[in-house]
This record gives sequence, C-alpha cells and structure tokens, in this order.
Amino acid sequence: MYNYNRLQQLIESDKLSEATISGLLGMSTRTTPIKYPIKYKGVDLKRKIFNFMVGEYDCHIKFEEFSNMKKLKGSTSDIFEMALNGDVYIHCNCADFGFGGWAYLADELDYGLRPENRPPYINNPELDGSICKHLNQLLPKIGNYKDEIMKSIDAKLDKIKKEIKPKDIKKKEPIQVTTGRLFKKLFGKL
Ligand SMILES: [Zn+2]
Repeated sequence: MYNYNRLQQLIESDKLSEATISGLLGMSTRTTPIKYPIKYKGVDLKRKIFNFMVGEYDCHIKFEEFSNMKKLKGSTSDIFEMALNGDVYIHCNCADFGFGGWAYLADELDYGLRPENRPPYINNPELDGSICKHLNQLLPKIGNYKDEIMKSIDAKLDKIKKEIKPKDIKKKEPIQVTTGRLFKKLFGKL
C-alpha cells in the first residue's frame, strides 16, 4: 500500500519544506562504503546549475541563494558559503534516483530539478530516504569544490565579456521626459 500519509507529513513538516544539504543528508537512507570518484564538470550559468560526475553518473545541484545572488550583498565567494547552508535543488541520472522514488519525492517536496509524477509504488512505497548514494556522497563534500566552482564562474563571465563587441553596447541617451511626452504616452494620440 502506497503511503500517501507519509508524503502529506513530509510536505507539512518544516524539516523538508526547506531542503538544505544537511536536511537531505539527515533523511538519506542510501549510504555506500565505495568511494566514487567525484569530478566537477562546470556550471550552466543560465540555469545556475552546477554539474558533477560521481562515479559514472551525472549529478546536478542548484543553490537557492545563488539564484538570488543579485539581491544579496557580499562577494560571490561569501554567497557560495551561504548557499551551502541554504536550500538546494538536485538531480542524479542514475536509475536508483528514479526507481527509488527520490525523483518523485524531490518533485513533490520542491527540491527536484526535473518533474516526476510517478510515485515509487513498488520499490519505495514508504517513501523512505531523500537522495541516491551518489548525491549522498557528493553533498557533504561539495564545499571542497568551492575554488573550482568560483574559477569556472569567473571564466564563463570573462568569456561572455569578450563576446560582447563594442558595437553591441549602445549608448543610452537620457530620455527627456516632458509633460507632453508623458501625456502622449499615457493617453495616446491627442
Ligand atoms: Zn545517483
């Protein structure tokens, strides 16, 4: 029997209404003695998603704080430190992440990066755990990749700056706001 009550409890509990790294790790049931090699693959600046390889699988993480970084004060590096303690959105492309039900749970509890509406009726009807073994291994170590992450962001920003040619930057003329102009704008043709 599929456990809707548990899902309801999880949704209502404050514990997972904010899915922090420590919250997800605290609920995780997937551990492994195997040390998978972890490799930082880079950042998708547009979607603000950081990509890793853990073993042979792709793990993705997005930090809530990073998405709001324009509104936050402090250096990118300070914001990263803050982001490590804030809400995260995650995904792993291993089969277990889907069949184990965490893709579904992540979507329902709003810590997923991809939609998933198929509950794990067979493999995890009790909806135990929170993440797969790859994310379970990556998340506690993600702070170790801070320098690499910062460098990759800087490199991407430099590339964007170089791609902007001088002619793309149009000098904005200050617009003379006259009563007549404003009036026309507001009321159209006289
Ligand atoms: Zn995985």
